[in-house]
Amino acid sequence: TEATYERVAKTDEDVQAFISLNKEQALEQAAQLDNEPVENRGPLFGLPLGVKDNIVTKGITTTAASRMLEDFVPVYDATVVERLNKAGMVSVGKLNLDEFAMGSTTETSAYKITRNPWNLDHVPGGSSGGSAAAVAAGEIPFALGTDTGGSIRQPAAFCGIVGMKPTYGRVSRSGLIALASSFDQIGPMTRTVEDNALLLQAIAGLDAKDSSSSPIEVPNYKEALTGDIKGLKIGVPTEYLGEGVSEEARAATLEALKVLESLGAIVEEVSLPHSTYALPAYYFITSAEASSGLARYDGVHYGYRSENAKNLDEIYRKSRAEAFGHDVKRRILLGTYTLGAGHYDDIYKKAQRARALVAQDFADAFAKYDVLISPAAPTTAMKIGEDSVDIVTKFMSDILTTPINLAGVPAISVPCGFSNELPLGLQIIGNHFDEALIYKVAHAYE
Ligand code: GLN
Repeated sequence: TEATYERVAKTDEDVQAFISLNKEQALEQAAQLDNEPVENRGPLFGLPLGVKDNIVTKGITTTAASRMLEDFVPVYDATVVERLNKAGMVSVGKLNLDEFAMGSTTETSAYKITRNPWNLDHVPGGSSGGSAAAVAAGEIPFALGTDTGGSIRQPAAFCGIVGMKPTYGRVSRSGLIALASSFDQIGPMTRTVEDNALLLQAIAGLDAKDSSSSPIEVPNYKEALTGDIKGLKIGVPTEYLGEGVSEEARAATLEALKVLESLGAIVEEVSLPHSTYALPAYYFITSAEASSGLARYDGVHYGYRSENAKNLDEIYRKSRAEAFGHDVKRRILLGTYTLGAGHYDDIYKKAQRARALVAQDFADAFAKYDVLISPAAPTTAMKIGEDSVDIVTKFMSDILTTPINLAGVPAISVPCGFSNELPLGLQIIGNHFDEALIYKVAHAYE
């Protein structure tokens, strides 16, 4: 634990991955672990962990990178944190993100700009940019991220690490500050596939505190890492190599598919015909869910309260106006509009129908193929500041990841080469609760 803090002190001045460090608590916890009898020590015993700052930690400030929660000290641990503590992990600090996990670059954080360790002029991706950068820079070997529309996989790709978005319901969301509750999943971000499997093993499974968590049994993920993928059927969605995807990302993906073929896999093209609906459906539905979820920040129950308010109405209006950032306000406006009486039928309901069509595309594809493979992101990491002006470019970076969240299926990003010395990621998508098979393929490729 001490060595971790030494590394963080050296590296994080450049990378700026952590919003806060909890050295005192961590050293105390580590000292207690030293007294555990050897036979009680599990596979993650004593290992350092970083936690994205939208996952609540008891007694440790949890900000979601918003001014709104600047002084919010939770009174309980998220289920994932509780489980990892039990497994003997030591949580060393909280990692930067886009405000309330809305974004793809970590630039909308109210606190700091995190930098890509491969090139400090570039973003680490987002919204789990702090998690990805801290792992890539070797500050910590394990981090938790969250993925609503790509926020684990895209930063993992940009930083050259392994990031898994589990099946919706595989991991408890209890203690996760929601972006969009019907999409959000917590997942592991690590250097290797094996580490990733170990971390998911420890957090997966039914939790009474999250009614959307699944009772389906959690298999032994490590046993899946056999390297044997002979006869495996891989589908390559045509739409995911088309418009908007850079030449580098396409070439690296085709190269990776050759490697998998040489290991005995069978590769075929497949169509996911409703892909073009995914991005607009994703933004309408998640904004609707976000606008309703964020209504709780009223200056009374939680978080920031304006000092300039003279009556109740002003407490609501000024607290929200002063503490929410620009991107959060934009989504609240979009979401409120979408749910309004005049638009509910022609926008929200239509988006829900599109969601069902996208999910059906995946069901049809998995009737024929074991996994689907695509680039994890259409480009390498952009320069800091580069697309803050252009919201459409920013949204476009989510075209390859958001359909997976609409369908609720699991997907991983594993490193698959470089372009101009910046990493590229390969996305391996599986059927519902098929994380073990994803790990098998990722490990064979790695
Ligand atoms: N970039 C996407 C968005 O801004 C994904 C966010 C996420 O997965 N948390 O909504």
